Amino acid sequence: MSQGESSARDVSGLRDLVVAGAPQIVADLSGLIRIPSVSWDGFNHAHLDASAARVAELFTATGLFGTVGVYRHGEGAPAVIARREPVGNAPTVVLYAHHDVQPPGEETQWDSPAFEPTVRDGRLYGRGSADDKAGIAVHLAALRALATHHAGDLRLGLVVFIEGEEENGSPSFAGFLHEHRELLRGEVIVVADSDNPSTEIPALTVSLRGNVTATLRVRTLNHAVHSGMFGGVLPDAMMAFVALAASFYDAQGGVAISGLEGVEQSTSGEAPKVGHEAPLAQGVSEVGRGSVPQRLWRSAALTITGMDIPSVAHASNTLLPEVSAKLSLRVPPGMSAGSALALLKDHITRQIRFGATWELHDVSLGEPFSLDPSGPVVGLAATALAKGFGAEAVYQGVGGSIPFISQLAEVFPQAQILVTGIEDPDTRAHSPNESLDLRVLWRAILSEAVLLSELNRREISDLAEVRALD
Ligand SMILES: [Zn+2]
Repeated sequence: MSQGESSARDVSGLRDLVVAGAPQIVADLSGLIRIPSVSWDGFNHAHLDASAARVAELFTATGLFGTVGVYRHGEGAPAVIARREPVGNAPTVVLYAHHDVQPPGEETQWDSPAFEPTVRDGRLYGRGSADDKAGIAVHLAALRALATHHAGDLRLGLVVFIEGEEENGSPSFAGFLHEHRELLRGEVIVVADSDNPSTEIPALTVSLRGNVTATLRVRTLNHAVHSGMFGGVLPDAMMAFVALAASFYDAQGGVAISGLEGVEQSTSGEAPKVGHEAPLAQGVSEVGRGSVPQRLWRSAALTITGMDIPSVAHASNTLLPEVSAKLSLRVPPGMSAGSALALLKDHITRQIRFGATWELHDVSLGEPFSLDPSGPVVGLAATALAKGFGAEAVYQGVGGSIPFISQLAEVFPQAQILVTGIEDPDTRAHSPNESLDLRVLWRAILSEAVLLSELNRREISDLAEVRALD
């Protein structure tokens, strides 16, 4: 039998198993949704322990793992790691998702209770139904299918890694990765926590922008003075700030900081539309130059997200001695967050006027991420997604940051990181009425099962050559 014939037989065998396992996985996912595992400060973290324990139990029951445990780094939230060693030189695949969720928000805005899973019109509603307990369900169901289909010939090493503090910014994640890097190591990492352009079209996320956030303080006077006595002679801090802020942007509203004006890279990708929900007020135009993917995924963006200045109600006729502004600088893939920060500092040094003094404090850096779409494992994943969804996968970027992905890339630089997901445009992750389209769930499970089955017939050394399934 050729490899093509055995692949086709695997796909149909796995599809039957996914269909047969559907009622059980919906029941298991519903059980997880009922645990209100909110990781934000101020919520009862006993629920995180309960959800980690349940996740560990579910993966233990697959019978696939040599070790399953609940771990935490310092005061961090509990995470589950299950590990099975490979046979011979078979590769090891790490499956990531997170078991914590966002708070429910206003209960009255939910059509059914946030922590009571409810199916309506083919969608499963509930907090975490998609983000990201569906990620856990995809890994679990794919592994169940794999365990049955490859009962006699499973060579693949497998790691399940289910984090418990993603929605709270993963504060102990970097330390956790270092502490448990031996248990977590593998050649391929599958992250199931992103989205798809529609319920029909699967996506692989191949780039994420990084982020620099910092507070900029600008000072011109030692104390406030009367604007009638000194206005027109002494510079106030707001005047120095607005002159500087104007220099951040060119005439089209693109970033005008030298070195950050727009990084030209050619990456294939479906052009996303700035959709009907883009809240542009009447008559207002978009900013920047180039296609939407170029601007949103591969260019810098600088936003002033808050300021400390007197409110209108408390404004008096004085020259302000000092103002502070929070800056959020999105960093294009291919550049480090540290070099973007250095370019911002250079710009401020050159553009600040009137000799105003300034400083940046509370600086935080999140690295961008990018994956070579022509890499061998990406080809396997795209083919597996096409088989699972019955539609060609698109390679997409994301304008936001997923800091934990950059941290994974940093600790495991040799691993190929595949960012997949089960969300679609109607998912409303983080909002009331979060839901999961069950057809997407089946397609995502089959895709992952097919990918694992293909990797099961590879050696580590093959992954460098193989570009796609035959
Ligand atoms: Zn998530």
